[in-house]
Amino acid sequence: GDGHINTTPKTFVVNSPNVVYTDEEIRSKYTYRTTLCTLEGDSYVAVPKETLYDFKVDRKVPKTGMMLVGWGGNNGTTVTAGILANKHKYSWATKEGTQEANYYGSVIMGSTIKLGIDAKGKDVNVPFHNVLPMVHPNDLVIGGWDISGLPLDKAMDRAKVLQPTMKELVREEMSKMTPLPSIYYPDFIAANQENRADNVLPGSKASMEHVEQIRKDIREFKANNGLDKVIVLWTANTERYADLIDGVNDTADNLLKSIEAGHEEVSPSTIFSVACILEGTPFINGSPQNTFVPGAIELAERHGAFIGGDDFKSGQTKMKSALTDFLINAGIKLTSIASYNHLGNNDGYNLSSQKQFRSKEISKSNVVDDMVAANSVLYKEGEHPDHTVVIKYMPAVGDDKRALDEYYAEIFCGGHQTISLFNVCEDSLLASPLIIDLVVVTEMMTRIQWKAAEAGAAAEKDFKHFHSVLSVLSYMLKAPLTPPGTPVVNALAKQRAALTNIFRACVGLEPESDMTLEHKLF
Ligand code: NAD
Repeated sequence: GDGHINTTPKTFVVNSPNVVYTDEEIRSKYTYRTTLCTLEGDSYVAVPKETLYDFKVDRKVPKTGMMLVGWGGNNGTTVTAGILANKHKYSWATKEGTQEANYYGSVIMGSTIKLGIDAKGKDVNVPFHNVLPMVHPNDLVIGGWDISGLPLDKAMDRAKVLQPTMKELVREEMSKMTPLPSIYYPDFIAANQENRADNVLPGSKASMEHVEQIRKDIREFKANNGLDKVIVLWTANTERYADLIDGVNDTADNLLKSIEAGHEEVSPSTIFSVACILEGTPFINGSPQNTFVPGAIELAERHGAFIGGDDFKSGQTKMKSALTDFLINAGIKLTSIASYNHLGNNDGYNLSSQKQFRSKEISKSNVVDDMVAANSVLYKEGEHPDHTVVIKYMPAVGDDKRALDEYYAEIFCGGHQTISLFNVCEDSLLASPLIIDLVVVTEMMTRIQWKAAEAGAAAEKDFKHFHSVLSVLSYMLKAPLTPPGTPVVNALAKQRAALTNIFRACVGLEPESDMTLEHKLF
C-alpha cells in the first residue's frame, strides 16, 4: 500500500423493527415489491404487488473446505497459491516493485455496496463481504482431485501463470498438496489430454463405485480437516456434451440406473455432481459442458442439494454481458457481435478439439438473448443480432488469453457504430477470484432460509432453503443454470443487483433504488 490508512467503518448492524439479531441468527421480515401486469385488450394493466417473506440467516460461519476437481490445472493451482499468499499476507518483488497479495477481481472480496446515506446525504459504502456473515477465503481448507498426479508446486510451474517470486513463497506449502485420483473417461475430453492422466481411478466408464469413491473422498477430507462443510467445484477440463437420451439421463432414477449400467453417455462431471448431491455437498460447474443433465437436476431437487453452473464468466463474456446491456439499454441497435479468442494454455489445447470447442461455443452463444428479447422497440419478435465465436489454440501466448471483439450497431437514422475491443489478460487470474466468489456465495446460500409470511391461508410454517439450482450465482457464470422453467438473466448489472438485493433482504434492507431524491427534491 501507499501508507494511507482508510478508517471508514466497514461493518454495520441494522436497526429496524423488521430485523432481529440473536447469537445464532439474523431474522428479517421483508416486503418483496413487484408489479403484476395483465393484458386487457391491447394494453397492460400494471398492479403493484407485495409479498411478505421471513428470512433467517445462520450467523455461525462454518469451517469450510473447498474441493476442486481439476485442482492441478491452471485455475486450481492459481487460486490455491493466491489464497495461501493472502492468508500469509505475502508480498513479493516484481519489476514494477513490491506486489502484495490481494483479492482483486472478486466481487465479494474486492467490491463494495452502497449501504445508505449519512445525515449529510453522503453515500455510505461497505465491503460486499460484510453484508452477511460470509466465510473468508483465507479460512478455506483446500483440496481436490486431478487426473494428473503432479503435486501442486510442480503443477503451478506447469501452469506458467504466477511470478517466480510469488511461487517461491508458497512452494513448500504447495509441495505438500497432491490431488486425489480422479475419474477419467477418455471420450469426454480431448485426446491430447491423455499424457497427463497418470492419477486415475480404475474403470473408464460410469459406475456406482466411482460415485461412492468420490463421496468417501469428501467425507474423509471433511473428517481429516475437522470441517463443518465442503463445497465442490469443477474446474477440470471442458468435456464434450453428453447426449440427452430418453431413459438414460432424463430423470433422476434413469440417471442412477445408467450409472449402474456403465452407460457411455454419463460424463465424469455428472458422476461428481451425483456424488455431491447424494452426499448433500454443494457442487458448482465452472466449465461449459452439460454436466447437469435433466436427471441430475431432478436428483438435486429430490435431495435438496445445491447445484450451480455453468462456465466461469471471466473475460470476453463478462465484457459482453455488460456492453450489450449498455448498448441495447441506450437504445442502440446492436446488429452483430464477432468474437475471436486465442490462448495457449492447456484449456486452449483441450478446446482445440472440436467436440470440446462445441461445448464452449454453445455456452458463449446465448449470452445476449435476454437483453435482445427485452427490447421490442429495437428488435422484432425473433430478430437477433448476428453472433459468432471463434477460439484458436496458440501455444506462444500461454495463459495470456486474447479476446478480440467487434460490436457493430445501428445508430440514429441509418448511421453505424463499430466498437472494437482487444482484451488481454491471464485467464487464470480472472477465473481464480470467481472460484472464490462461487464458493463463498454458495456456502452463504446454505445458511439462508425463508418462508412466506402472509397472514391467512398462504402463511407457511416451516422455513425452507432456496431452490436447489442456485441462479443467484449467475453473475459469475457464462451460461447460468436456473430452476427448470425459469428465465435466464445474462445482463451483468441485473445479476449483480439480484445478488446484492437478496443479501440486503436477509438483513431487512430495501434494494438501493439509486433515485437519490434527497439530492433532487429540496
Ligand atoms: P487446465 O487444463 O489448466 O486444468 C484442468 C485440469 O483438470 C487439468 O489439470 C486436468 O488434468 C484436470 N482434469 C481433466 N479431467 C479431469 C477429471 N475428470 N477429473 C479431475 N481432473 C481432471 O484448465 P484451466 O485453465 O484451469 O481451466 C479449467 C476449466 O475452466 C476449463 O474447462 C475451462 O474451459 C474453464 N473455464 C476457464 C476460464 C478462465 O478464465 N480460466 C473461464 C471459463 C471457463
